[in-house]
Amino acid sequence: MKPEAQCEDPSALIFQIKRSAMEDGPGIRTNVFIKGCPLRCKWCCNPEGQETQPELPAGAEVHDFFERLMSVSEIMEIVVRDKPFYDATGGGVTVAGGEPTMHVRFTGELLRRCKALGIHTALDTCGFAEGAAADLLNQADMLLFDLKIINEEKHIAATGKSNRPILENYHRLGASGKPMRVRMPLIPGYTDDAENLEAVARLAAKYPNVERLDIIPFHNYAIPKYEVLHKLHILSDIPLLPKEKVEEIRAYMAEFGANVKVGG
Ligand code: SF4
Repeated sequence: MKPEAQCEDPSALIFQIKRSAMEDGPGIRTNVFIKGCPLRCKWCCNPEGQETQPELPAGAEVHDFFERLMSVSEIMEIVVRDKPFYDATGGGVTVAGGEPTMHVRFTGELLRRCKALGIHTALDTCGFAEGAAADLLNQADMLLFDLKIINEEKHIAATGKSNRPILENYHRLGASGKPMRVRMPLIPGYTDDAENLEAVARLAAKYPNVERLDIIPFHNYAIPKYEVLHKLHILSDIPLLPKEKVEEIRAYMAEFGANVKVGG
C-alpha cells in the first residue's frame, strides 16, 4: 500500500472498528478507531490508541483490538453495510482514536466519502489540533469534544500537553454553531475538584450548540490492555467513584446551566 501522502486512497493504522455502536453520537453508528494521539492522559482507557506505530505482533487480535493498515476504501466497504440502520436511527460514522485529526488526509477523505453518501459524521476529539488538523474539526457534522482540565498547569501535568489549542478550538467551534457534545472524564484527584467541575460546566453551558455534557466516570476496564502492551497503568489502584458521588457531581455541574449526563 502506498504511503498516505502519495495516494488518493489514504490509509491509516486502525485498531478497532465497532459496528452497531450506540454511545458515540446519535443513533446507530460505526466507530472507526485510528492509532496515534498527541496526549498521554494518565487515565487513558485506550492505551492501544496512543502510538502511531504498531505495537502488537503482526496479525494479533487481543481484547477486541487489532492493528491493521486500512485504506479509506476498505473502511467504506464496512461502513456502507449499515447505511439502512443509520438512515432509520439518525446514526452514522464516528471517527475516533487516539486522535483522528492526527491523520488529516485519511480522516478528511473518510469524512468526504461519508458525506457524499449522505452518512452523518462525527469526530471524537481531544481537541488538541492545529493548522490543517484543526480545520478538519470544521468538516464533521458533529464533534464529541473532550474537556478534561481547564487549569493549564494541571492539564500539562496530567496529559503532557498544554490545553491552549484545545480551548482555542473549543471556543472557535462553539461560536461557529457546530453541533457538539462535550465529554469530561471524571477522574478522582485529577478532574473532580470543584473548581474544574465548575469551569467545565460553564464552558459547556456557554454555547447553545453544545447539546449536552457527558461525564464519564473512571473505570479500570483498560487494565488488561495495559498488560498486553506492557505499559504501566499509573491509576490502576485508585478507587472507583460510588454512584451516589457521581450523581452528586452531575447535579453540581448542572447548576451552572449545562445539560449534564452520566456516561456516553
Ligand atoms: S486523549 Fe484520549 S486517547 Fe489520547 S491519551 Fe488521552 S484518553 Fe488516551
